[in-house]
Amino acid sequence: MRGLSTIAFDADDTLWHSERVFKLTEERFAALLADHVASDGLSQRLLETEKRNLQYYGFGRKGFVLSMIETAIDVTDGKVPTAILRDLIDLGRDMAAHPIEILPDVRETLEAVAQRYRILLVTKGDLLDQEQKLARSGLGGLFQAVEIVSDKSPPTYQRIFTRHGDGPERSMMVGNSLKSDVVPAIEVGSWGIFIPHPLTWALEHTDAPKDAPRFRQIERIGELSNLLEEIHR
Ligand SMILES: [Mg+2]
Repeated sequence: MRGLSTIAFDADDTLWHSERVFKLTEERFAALLADHVASDGLSQRLLETEKRNLQYYGFGRKGFVLSMIETAIDVTDGKVPTAILRDLIDLGRDMAAHPIEILPDVRETLEAVAQRYRILLVTKGDLLDQEQKLARSGLGGLFQAVEIVSDKSPPTYQRIFTRHGDGPERSMMVGNSLKSDVVPAIEVGSWGIFIPHPLTWALEHTDAPKDAPRFRQIERIGELSNLLEEIHR
């Protein structure tokens, strides 16, 4: 069988920080509600609301803002002042304006890998939000194709690696989520490379794949070139 030809990268918390903006916003959400509800369990309530709402809003900033508003209404039994709801909407806008912080060695690694492989970006979330983040990152020109999807399931990778690559067997997915980036890619026969990020959303956790010869973990993206050498040997 011919070798690896296509490498896809996740964006949020693989190429640039993202979850820290959500965490920071959640702290502000808790501070806004501090005079109205006990902070105990507030984070858990928000997470439960987000989880419940995924089927309606998908992943990303807009759904997060709606979930903060819904949680604020529910935990105050409907008594949350409208001024606070206004503040929560503003928090969502602040998230959009947050500067993009690219992780170490990202550009160098992408440039090096792009010399030998076709490289793709595969990210999920709000379309406009992801487009704007990519534009502001200045990394867009490095990718042969960009796919912004509503979810990352095995059929998603099957479709993307068939459309933009030479099929899943000759493709690799690199990302910080075992659940979204690694496990579904391995399921369709691709390589799945896990690069843990210290802040990863609770709903992205799952167990590492077992008995999967195409699963690898590296600690930073800068280790990818060495890993590719090793795979080729
Ligand atoms: Mg990610």
